[in-house]
Amino acid sequence: MGKIRVLDQNTINKIAAGEVIDRPASVVKELLENAIDAQATSVTVEIKDGGISFLRITDNGQGIAKEDIRPAFLRHSTSKITDARDLMTISSLGFRGEALSSIAAVAQVELISRQPADITGVRYVIEGGTEKSYDEIGAPSGTTFIIRNLFYNVPARKKFLKANQTEAGYIYTIVEKIALSHPDVSIRFINNNASKLFTAGNRDLKNIIYNIFGKEAAQKVIEIQTSSEFAAITGYVGKPEFSRGNRDYETFFVNGRYIKSSLISKAVEEAYRPYSMQHKYPFAVLHIEIQGDLIDVNVHPSKMEIRIKNQEEIFEFIHHTLKEALQERESIPEIVHTP
Ligand code: ADP
Ligand code: MG
Repeated sequence: MGKIRVLDQNTINKIAAGEVIDRPASVVKELLENAIDAQATSVTVEIKDGGISFLRITDNGQGIAKEDIRPAFLRHSTSKITDARDLMTISSLGFRGEALSSIAAVAQVELISRQPADITGVRYVIEGGTEKSYDEIGAPSGTTFIIRNLFYNVPARKKFLKANQTEAGYIYTIVEKIALSHPDVSIRFINNNASKLFTAGNRDLKNIIYNIFGKEAAQKVIEIQTSSEFAAITGYVGKPEFSRGNRDYETFFVNGRYIKSSLISKAVEEAYRPYSMQHKYPFAVLHIEIQGDLIDVNVHPSKMEIRIKNQEEIFEFIHHTLKEALQERESIPEIVHTP
């Protein structure tokens, strides 16, 4: 008798969930991205106990059609792409169709959603991958997800979570990044009933920088706005005297997606080199738009990495743009390094 068997869906989902959902902050990231993909203009994130016991995300987006509620929780089910060709021109933040199935596999999920044109909405409850209820109800237009007791059925994972305050900090970081990435969406963050962040959704990126990084940051930034035939950059970078002790203040978005990229970091840092930045890093919040077919976002499930095809050109474009901006606006004279 052979020993190999195919695992059941529930077990597969639970295992796969680990790839996408490793802590409350990843739940927040996935659900916020879904809200933005659903064209929400206003999203509220509320958490209790570091998001472990309670997490609620309310959006005013397009809602989920009644007939899509159940399929939305199946693995690899998505409304955002139909086949691999779409990956070339992806404009949504999600596309793998793994978030909802993963979250539902490892938490108690309550979903309330109504599409604007519908009279009634749906309240759907799914726990540990098992449907508990499906009811038509009156509901505001948009979608609310309530996630309770994350990892209640995966004690091994729950053990790895940090103190509530630390987990709340991770969530805050994610919310900040998303707020900076979408100045057109109003975002509110509430932690244990206390309001921690509010952005107006009026496209004023500088105001969001003020809200998140403080007054000094907002006063010491230079606006960037340039485009070429294959890319465009907008955003703010710090004047050299507002340099920071680490790279945490370099925030880059490519096509609306928060990413980490050593290529982009290097291009930015290089532009600051003449201004004596030893062991210092620039402050930057940059939105970089790159022609969809020149990047590949399908590198990792958490999607923080992207692959850029014309690396040298992008490097040069960013480097050159910042160099010019700094030369133009910076009054501090260049320090000449003698060999
Ligand atoms: P993906 O975002 O990769 O498509 P998800 O598992 O995150 O996969 O979501 C599955 C589907 O559920 C989405 O494609 C979308 O159609 C729907 N959905 C999820 N969240 C929302 C929301 N807040 N508003 C509207 N539709 C949503
Ligand atoms: Mg998603």
